[in-house]
Amino acid sequence: MTHTRATSGLLVGAIVLTAFATGCGGATIWSREEEIRVGREASERLEEEYEVSRNPADVALIEGIGQRLVAAGKVDDWPFTFKVLEERSVNAVSLPGGPIYIFRGLIDLTEGDEDELAAVMAHEMAHIQKRHVSKMIAQGVFTNLIIVLATGGAVRTAAQLVAVMAQLRFSRDDEYESDRLAIRYTYRAGYDPNGLVRFFEKLKRLEKEESPDPVTFNLTRTHPLTDARINRAREEIAKVVQEVNAELEAEYLRDK
Ligand SMILES: [Zn+2]
Repeated sequence: MTHTRATSGLLVGAIVLTAFATGCGGATIWSREEEIRVGREASERLEEEYEVSRNPADVALIEGIGQRLVAAGKVDDWPFTFKVLEERSVNAVSLPGGPIYIFRGLIDLTEGDEDELAAVMAHEMAHIQKRHVSKMIAQGVFTNLIIVLATGGAVRTAAQLVAVMAQLRFSRDDEYESDRLAIRYTYRAGYDPNGLVRFFEKLKRLEKEESPDPVTFNLTRTHPLTDARINRAREEIAKVVQEVNAELEAEYLRDK
């Protein structure tokens, strides 16, 4: 078991346990306030276990991109936070309600290409914006897990947490939706939306080179990457760029 797998398990374990604790009578659809609280609690546990970078350059880079995406995408309805975790694996984590963590290994993989980094961050923002984890719970994706946790008591070991993590996998539709929104947010913020495709290609190469690879294990497991998805992203870029250009023009004329 790698360190990273335990990390992700810890996160999801915290989320699901809290969902069970707060979901009255089996209904696990959170209110907006509950969702924000669940995410905050999970982020506190995460930050007790793992080192958040205090390096001013990191903070400036990630917060700068994050705030630019929020402002340009007009997505300030969730309290987004953006932080770097000192973990070597290629990963990014979003928690319900706003917290986003980018792993050191992922920043390294982007090799200074801020368009790629912005694409990943915007993709995680979209999962939060569209409440994908909450939706999965509401749809019963986590039902078995919640029963196991309820009858077995608290999760005690990292192995149990990894088992919890293994159940989390965003659906294809949720991934496509997040990719499309990532293209929209990045382009509106003035980034090259092709950064998403460039990042996918890098990830794919890494997967091929090192498979089976604990380094990319988490990101591609929770956010499955296929050729169809990469092709679709290319097609979406052309469409979204046109849409956004029309929107920006209308906004310009309106505000003139
Ligand atoms: Zn995703």
